[in-house]
Amino acid sequence: MQDNHLPTAELQALDAAHHMHPFTFGAELAEKGARIITRAKGVWLTDSEGEEILDAMAGLWCVNVGYGREELAEVAARQMKQLPFYNTFFQTSHVPAIMLAKKLAEIAPGDLNHVFFNGSGSDSNDTNLRMVRHYWDLKGQPERFNVISRWNGYHGSTMGGGSLGGMKGIHAQGGLPIPGIHHIDQPDWWSEGGDMSPEDFGLARAQQLEEKILELGPETVAAFIAEPVQGAGGVIVPPATYWPEIQRIVKKYDILLIVDEVITGFGRTGNWFGSETMGITPDIMTCAKGITSGYIPLGASIVSDKIAKVIDEGDEFAHGYTYSGHPVACAVALENIRLLEEEGIVERAGKEIAPYLKEKWEALVDHPLVGEARIVGLMGSIALTPNKATRAKFKAPGGTVGYICRERCFANNLVMRHVGDRMIISPPLTITKAEVDILIERARKSLDETLERIN
Ligand code: PLP
Repeated sequence: MQDNHLPTAELQALDAAHHMHPFTFGAELAEKGARIITRAKGVWLTDSEGEEILDAMAGLWCVNVGYGREELAEVAARQMKQLPFYNTFFQTSHVPAIMLAKKLAEIAPGDLNHVFFNGSGSDSNDTNLRMVRHYWDLKGQPERFNVISRWNGYHGSTMGGGSLGGMKGIHAQGGLPIPGIHHIDQPDWWSEGGDMSPEDFGLARAQQLEEKILELGPETVAAFIAEPVQGAGGVIVPPATYWPEIQRIVKKYDILLIVDEVITGFGRTGNWFGSETMGITPDIMTCAKGITSGYIPLGASIVSDKIAKVIDEGDEFAHGYTYSGHPVACAVALENIRLLEEEGIVERAGKEIAPYLKEKWEALVDHPLVGEARIVGLMGSIALTPNKATRAKFKAPGGTVGYICRERCFANNLVMRHVGDRMIISPPLTITKAEVDILIERARKSLDETLERIN
């Protein structure tokens, strides 16, 4: 197919004049000009100048089946022709929402058998927040209003999602967090573990949950929310002691556990869900991104039998979105799950690609700039440091070196994101071993160039 568009400079000028970008310093972007992506296939993006870029972030951690799957486009077109929209509010339903809810109930762990559809990850977490508070209200415990989360966790950028998340930059704008949200520290051993062993540190950070519950009063706590592996916080893989202790605590105080699988769901960690990889039993699971491989927006709150029974038998749950269970999005999700399952994409990613990538990724720790290389399944991070032995941070404002490295990656046609001075990857699950080699080669070259620039 021929690309037929305005010259890049004109597109950039129009973009700067009219398009407000998420999480972007607009004036800086206007000066530099956005890189304009025009098409994509597999793990490869093409920009408006015809450059081919290896997308090691799968878009925004979402294009799990890779770009350019015609099947998904065809299903969407078919569904649009047959039933482009109908709501699920007023005692009506439709086939795509029913069949997707059934499928999600089948693949989700434990007794997560009920699905509330949303439009995105953020508004799924808003749903979860309202649902857990409503649940306790219906159970005659309305004082269970508090929800505990973690600093540097990410749960979206709506008022609810942004409050649940622990990103101080988000809280600083718009009066967040909303009332009743409390944060404990994250299990980031490399950055914050000091002289403790990872195991002791994992336990200590989990025990902060118990301390917070006792401080607030156990009878006031509705739920704890966390990602199995923090994604946007920098791919923070918790020590092995962390999750068992968290589960002991939520069980002891009868607190609901919301596991945010927006990134970790649908194969990212080598299993269908991060909960399986980390051995977690959630009461509610948040899904988005990989549920449709990002081809169309969709979010889902997958809910346990215990919670659904109370919600279903209580008053009307006064909550929902026009696009809850959008038929086109549900049809695409079903087809996406079929591809992940029938083509063995999740299995191959976990069994074949993940070990290969792990070996190459962890070897990056021999680079003078890299202090730690962590990876679980197909999500990984490296921490950049001026001193590996002391795990020191750069004197430059946090993120400067990461930013330089990201720029070098982009110049070398590799999309790798930076979170502060950590570099992160999350490629499509369909990446091949040969493409992993290219990823690593370009990452090394970019690290070398970063080192040259900061010395
Ligand atoms: N939860 C997690 C763990 C995420 O990583 C994200 C997005 O990156 C969200 C929620 C928010 O999802 P969305 O951007 O679809 O609103």
